Amino acid sequence: MGKAKVRFGSAGIPIQCPGSSLDAIECSHSLGLGALELEFVRGVKLLEENARALKPASEKFDIRLSAHAPYWINCCTSDKIKQETTKRNLFLSAQACMWAGARVAVFHPGYYQGKTSKECLKITKDLFARLKTHMEHHDVSGVKLGAETVGKKSQYGGLDECMELQREVPEIMLVFDFAHLHARGDWKFKSEDDYRKMFAHVEKTLPGYLKDFHSHFSGINFSDKGERNHIPVDEESVPPYKPLMKVLAENGYGGTIISESPQLEIDALKMQKEYLKHL
Ligand SMILES: [Zn+2]
Repeated sequence: MGKAKVRFGSAGIPIQCPGSSLDAIECSHSLGLGALELEFVRGVKLLEENARALKPASEKFDIRLSAHAPYWINCCTSDKIKQETTKRNLFLSAQACMWAGARVAVFHPGYYQGKTSKECLKITKDLFARLKTHMEHHDVSGVKLGAETVGKKSQYGGLDECMELQREVPEIMLVFDFAHLHARGDWKFKSEDDYRKMFAHVEKTLPGYLKDFHSHFSGINFSDKGERNHIPVDEESVPPYKPLMKVLAENGYGGTIISESPQLEIDALKMQKEYLKHL
């Protein structure tokens, strides 16, 4: 049996783990998971001392932490006030991650609102230049901002756009959301080969990324405009999880998969079980 290089965890506190984020670390460990994503989606409300307490616990229980930044971030806006809101929320997310020892704060890049992809890239780069200065000023370092592949065609953040953001902005790393990729139509997953082709494309553009990727997974309902809602992972749900687990194990890719299914940890454990079968 090969070494497990992919860790699995839930988006937020597991359903079976009532309590705080701190309690959820030990509880995730006892469930057999290896990761946990903190949810800042409705605002970064974690106090400094509570965030700092997460780091030693995550080390003790071998749980790799990440976070999801607030939903109201939009890196593609030309509205100065909205740009400031975006910068502030990215900063607060990164700072809380640093305190907690979390590796990445995931965010949704934004909405086109009539702009081209190139214009969105330029606005994002300018915004991140200001964010970088702000982070340096406050000694916030060692944390990546994770550009998550988005689920709707109206949103900026397709696979190639997120890869471009990682190449162009040193603070940004790509984050896969497999359900979003499927729903937006960036990549349709039916078979092992579809996953293999996408990973080959990513490996070519971002060499080394697949040694330690970050990602979200769930089933998804969608229309021709893209994502509708996340659903549980099972035999019929799309994108299919079993071929992905096989391809990850066979290629020895490493990283983290966060379950965004309504069943959170149940589906994280289901995916992990399938992944371990192929090692
Ligand atoms: Zn997300």
